[in-house]
Amino acid sequence: MFDPITHARAPTGALRLSMNPVTAGQDCMCCRNTTARLSVADIPLCPTCAPAYALDEPDIDTVAVLIWLPQMDQGVLGRLASAIYVAKTHPDAASGEGAARAEQANLVFLALYKLREQAQERFGTNSPAALRRIVSNTPCDDLFGRQGTSGLRILMRGQWFGADPDFYTRTLRLWAAGL
Ligand SMILES: [Zn+2]
Repeated sequence: MFDPITHARAPTGALRLSMNPVTAGQDCMCCRNTTARLSVADIPLCPTCAPAYALDEPDIDTVAVLIWLPQMDQGVLGRLASAIYVAKTHPDAASGEGAARAEQANLVFLALYKLREQAQERFGTNSPAALRRIVSNTPCDDLFGRQGTSGLRILMRGQWFGADPDFYTRTLRLWAAGL
């Protein structure tokens, strides 16, 4: 099971995003909900899950935040986040039933986003970049007791990295259209 602390111990520089196409038809290894479109450290991922893995991207903190959510694994959180952002992006989100659904999705997002305060309280940070720095400098023995049980998760914030800021919005439009 994916755990941010264990993942953050990867060798420095290993956790960069690769936009090269992955083998056609591969599912996202994290949420298994949709087709992988990119990879991090050769792990095929969808755009919602990729930021949780891409901890060496220089602007990771603008794209993702640490939250405390022990009840839900990272893959389930990825599915939920995708559903939230699709509901907010759907073409009918501007009016009627679509607007109500978009508002509900936004409330769910805000409830998840608030859990960053618990991550801050328990770990002294809610920054994925800080987690990467701290954990990669911490001796393994000091981390052993927390392996796989931290309860930390990484929430995608609904925006993409600076190299192509509109990439996620374009992906959501395709998903909302059922493509
Ligand atoms: Zn995914």
